[in-house]
Amino acid sequence: MCDFFWILENICEMIGQKLIAWYEINKRNLPWRDTGYPYLIWVSEVILQQTRVVQGLDYYHRFIDAYPDIFSLARADIDELLKIWQGLGYYSRARNMHAAAKHIVDVYDGKFPATYNGLITIKGIGDYTASAIASIAFGQAVPVIDGNVNRVIARLYGVQQPVNKPAGQKKIRIYAEKLMVRDIPGIYNQAIMEFGALQCIPQNPNCNGCILNRVCVAYRGGLVNMLPIKEKTAKIVTRYFHYLHVRFGNRTFIRRRADGDIWTGLYEFPMIETSGEIGPDDLTRIPAWQSYFDEQTPLVEAVSGEITRRLTHRILKIRFYEIVVDKPVSGQNLIEIPATDICRYAVPKVIDNYLKHIETQDT
Ligand code: SF4
Repeated sequence: MCDFFWILENICEMIGQKLIAWYEINKRNLPWRDTGYPYLIWVSEVILQQTRVVQGLDYYHRFIDAYPDIFSLARADIDELLKIWQGLGYYSRARNMHAAAKHIVDVYDGKFPATYNGLITIKGIGDYTASAIASIAFGQAVPVIDGNVNRVIARLYGVQQPVNKPAGQKKIRIYAEKLMVRDIPGIYNQAIMEFGALQCIPQNPNCNGCILNRVCVAYRGGLVNMLPIKEKTAKIVTRYFHYLHVRFGNRTFIRRRADGDIWTGLYEFPMIETSGEIGPDDLTRIPAWQSYFDEQTPLVEAVSGEITRRLTHRILKIRFYEIVVDKPVSGQNLIEIPATDICRYAVPKVIDNYLKHIETQDT
């Protein structure tokens, strides 16, 4: 096995070349490929983080139609931007892009810095995005390391340390540097990411048909489905949200979610969060409920079943209450709007789904 590792370490560049040859035959035809325009590369890379290409493509087109360049993005109204982003999740990405666009316009006259070191100083551009822009747009030889690259390298070299911990990342980065084809780093980075997305997939990859199976440590050692190793990080917390969809004539009430929590900047119905499960009858007796309705007795017309949403470190248990009142409800930061206007506001996907559901019931 020692000899094998020695050979593997010394054919890194050849493996990099093989990945590029594979890429030229197998790459998907995507609108941001083969562009040298850093803005388009940036938008595509940010949208594709945590998102499948099939889903991201539609968002990419809508985003570029609305904000074709860095200047239009810098001028964007954040509510409109979040509306375009609605459903894509990880909304901090959109807010960070907005802040970064303003910074690039204000400080660099709208031109992206041409190096990794310059890009990484911009708030909202992290290691992955800086590497992608620097290599694909500016030809700088910096490896991109995302989930796909972690998986390919961990399997190829049999990395047994957790890839989400510093020791594992250090090893991955060493191999990523060695594999890099330095005269075409942008193509190489796209090749290894595409190889991870299409060939070296998370579950049951087709190793028998893989161009690298003769040198792949995981394949030779029967470790394919064990690698990469990831250590569990934060404890998963369960939260309970009760949304009050209040009808006051043809009007309703919403509010903007504050900073420092999930879905910052999106809109939602008045909401009561409880620390544990609580049934509809008990909910109407707690002070938080009464604070919305003061003296009046609201009519609860319907209560949805419990909807479960899994986010990275949280499980959300959500119910919607359809309520009719004859006086406005009161509550901090509530806005009264015509009920039909809610479609203009960016809302979390779970609320969007709920609105679509009740719309089909009403028709
Ligand atoms: S042989 Fe299998 S595990 Fe190894 S690189 Fe190819 S697809 Fe991935």
